[in-house]
Amino acid sequence: MKHSRFDVIIVGGGHAGTEAAHAAARMGVETALITLRKTDIGVMSCNPAIGGLGKGHLVREIDALDGVMGRVADKAGIQFRLLNRRKGPAVQGPRAQADRTIYRAEMLKVTTEQEKLHIIEGEVIDFLITGQEVTGVVLSDGSELSCSAVILTSGTFLRGVIHIGEIAKPGGRMGDRPSIQLAKRLSTMDLPLGRLKTGTPPRLDGRTINWSGLETQPGDDDPTLFSFLSTKTTAKQVNCGITHTNERTHEIIRENLNRSAMYGGRIDGVGPRYCPSIEDKVVRFAEKSSHQIFLEPEGVNDHTVYPNGISTSLPENVQADYVHSIVGLEDAEILQPGYAIEYDYVDPRSLDLDLSVRSVPGLYLAGQINGTTGYEEAAAQGMVAGLNAARRCLNEEQIIFGRSNSYIGVMIDDLTTNGVAEPYRMFTSRAEFRLSLRADNADQRLTPLAISLGCCSEERKSTFSTKMENLETARELLNENSYTPKQVAAVGIRISQDGNRRSGQDILAFPDVTFEDLVPLIPGTQSVGNDIRRQVERDALYANYIDRQNREISAMKRDEALIIPPELDYTSISGLSNELQTKLRMTMPHDLAQAARIDGMTPAALALLLARLRRDG
Ligand code: FAD
Repeated sequence: MKHSRFDVIIVGGGHAGTEAAHAAARMGVETALITLRKTDIGVMSCNPAIGGLGKGHLVREIDALDGVMGRVADKAGIQFRLLNRRKGPAVQGPRAQADRTIYRAEMLKVTTEQEKLHIIEGEVIDFLITGQEVTGVVLSDGSELSCSAVILTSGTFLRGVIHIGEIAKPGGRMGDRPSIQLAKRLSTMDLPLGRLKTGTPPRLDGRTINWSGLETQPGDDDPTLFSFLSTKTTAKQVNCGITHTNERTHEIIRENLNRSAMYGGRIDGVGPRYCPSIEDKVVRFAEKSSHQIFLEPEGVNDHTVYPNGISTSLPENVQADYVHSIVGLEDAEILQPGYAIEYDYVDPRSLDLDLSVRSVPGLYLAGQINGTTGYEEAAAQGMVAGLNAARRCLNEEQIIFGRSNSYIGVMIDDLTTNGVAEPYRMFTSRAEFRLSLRADNADQRLTPLAISLGCCSEERKSTFSTKMENLETARELLNENSYTPKQVAAVGIRISQDGNRRSGQDILAFPDVTFEDLVPLIPGTQSVGNDIRRQVERDALYANYIDRQNREISAMKRDEALIIPPELDYTSISGLSNELQTKLRMTMPHDLAQAARIDGMTPAALALLLARLRRDG
């Protein structure tokens, strides 16, 4: 029997696993990434796209912490679009269509090259436990690997079952076997497990699509990249096509609903409301006679097309019938049928804010196993678990991301406080402080943290410090003097003529005023670079709102930062309902802020809790 020792072991080479492995290795600890097959690394189980609204924010935050997803997506991107371009920067989301093959190859390359990171092919079937703590893993070939922390990121593989119409077969995703032994082992560990499901559409052969009559969707002329280190796209850029379902498509689906795995009662798991199957759409939005479908090429040297919007678990012949009823797809050949997958997840309320399992020291969970859906959500959790598992090995305090500093913090707090009723996906609306949590300022919010944690490359440190120096210089120029409304009007800028003198930054806070407008007014500003000009504009636009928001945050933080000792006996707080006592016991909130967000928490109950915490001092 082989035996090796690492500091951190990551189980699963998906999006959570790779990001966790990179984060731990960057922190300088010996890290092993164990995955079923080396070629799993960088596989996109579903659509070949990264980012979008809320999700794009997560990718920028991962990048700001020197993670890999953004850089790899920039290399693989074949179409970049900034979603919500016409709305304010706070809700704009960068998105890229990725070439599946390039993404995978690039992710494998950076993972292989990362120092202190060892890739091991194998199936983890058991944990080594010493006392209560996880101290290693056992592989199916009998080898044992010991470590100080294990991060489990097994995605949709735990007791995964694939459904296509009436057919159900075990699978982790199409073409992969599920992880059964590990799921059985987890069920003996007293963890709260549940079942969720998700689905994917049939893949089409692009050569059999009649593109001629279809609307095309090009990417942006000036691509917005994910990484603060990337400067240009490298892959060939492509267009997507757009088509629509119609009455006939819906009729075929309605006639066969009882044959759909989702609707035939063969799946117990709960599916993602925000990513509905075409069956779901036809039933839930019965009044609509058509739904949009984006025809997304899966790569530049790949004929496979991903029809975004028609995920399904109908039988193969029904999938063919409804696909062929759609304009442009009349003769489309299906390369792989759509399917639904059902899998085990762990109720994330059993996790601490660092993603460690409360009842099993040394074990961390990240990704789809925690009830989320999406590559970006998985990778962001991987980052948190990777950093924290490494900190555990280094005997350093846990790193907690807050709701006021990141979307990552919003997600972790949502998951660990309220659990999930369906696969959790990020949206900008989940963040109450979204004016300050913008995709464009993720580096300003998080790169200083990455530098202080010691997980940041020299390249990023120097890029970041140059940017901050340039921003500082630009801000100094803008704030050096103030100008009367008359002086401002004299260079053609229209702002209110109220007699108040304003600095350049104040003038930029007016909607429609651009940096270029200020150049004739403020000496020296002509030498400020384009990127810095845009950043200063965005920062100025939100400055007043953010000042107010910051005051609210600090008032709230005073009380909310009060730590709740884990041993607090909630039954001893008289006046607290049984229901809330149970919820508090289950959630074990870290502080008053987290307690406040528990479903059903009332101001009165919070006051009782606050009084007790103050009394116990
Ligand atoms: P995964 O990417 O699933 O990676 C898990 C990894 O763990 C794999 O590499 C596997 O080999 C490895 N592994 C598992 N068990 C073991 C073991 N015992 N030992 C060693 N290695 C192991 N997301 C969306 O945002 N929108 C969608 O519409 C969507 N639809 C989807 C449809 C389907 C059919 C599937 C399968 C996924 C879909 N997803 C969708 C989800 C997306 O693929 C996941 O959210 C994302 O891949 C999760 O990342 P992860 O790292 O948690 O897990």
